[in-house]
Amino acid sequence: MLEIDTLTVRYGQHLALDRVSLTVGRGETVVLLGANGAGKSSLLKAIGGLVRPTSGHVRVEGLSLSSLSPHEIVGQRLALVPEGRGIFPALTVEENLRLGANPAHARAKETASRDVIFSLFPRLSERTRQIAGTMSGGEQQMVAIGRALMSAPDYLLLDEPSLGLAPIVTQELFAVLAKIKATGLSILLVEQNVGESLALADRGYLLEAGRIVGAGTASTLKTDPAVQRAFLGSTTTASA
Ligand code: ATP
Repeated sequence: MLEIDTLTVRYGQHLALDRVSLTVGRGETVVLLGANGAGKSSLLKAIGGLVRPTSGHVRVEGLSLSSLSPHEIVGQRLALVPEGRGIFPALTVEENLRLGANPAHARAKETASRDVIFSLFPRLSERTRQIAGTMSGGEQQMVAIGRALMSAPDYLLLDEPSLGLAPIVTQELFAVLAKIKATGLSILLVEQNVGESLALADRGYLLEAGRIVGAGTASTLKTDPAVQRAFLGSTTTASA
């Protein structure tokens, strides 16, 4: 289980996360919903070791990640697909994927992982020599997810993967996430696309101004007035 326990993150005087607690069980897909600036990216960065929490803990299978570097956290089978994708634009698709297989446990599975990724994203197998920065936004997101999967994670953390993608590309992306979910991987998805993400997730949390203000099964959250309120005026609705 991935366990976030009363996690607080401050940037100077600014309180970005205020005693946030949530869990992701093995094989579960959990969505963290929240408007711009709610603190979603801060949470994923804190889990990935990119931001140091002021207090609280992140544990995976009972092991505290607090003193581990981002590199060591990937070694604990947590892979983060950051907002903005974080791929190496000047490198080829193949080179980006190979860099993902850095942890020792992942190197042993490199060929098998690549096969899985190419079956999820057939386009990547046709484009192994393409410079990643010349690809479309949707294709670059495939590279980013592919690279994360190359690290053979148990937990996949995704920060707004649909951001900036056309609706049809977003649908394709969520179809692939459903296939990844079906492999039994645990997923923590941060999204503003309420309709697609609640259709995929088992459970979810609602984050507002750094605090968890709602939690429940995906079907409960779909009709939760707090979710409706948080996204009123956004282009996606809970009923989508
Ligand atoms: P978005 O969807 O817009 O990325 P978010 O929910 O991911 O929003 P965060 O990026 O976690 O939110 O930001 C939470 C709050 O912390 C915001 O008010 C943001 O301005 C602030 N913040 C984020 N990063 C920093 C930083 N490095 N220094 C200071 N403040 C920051």
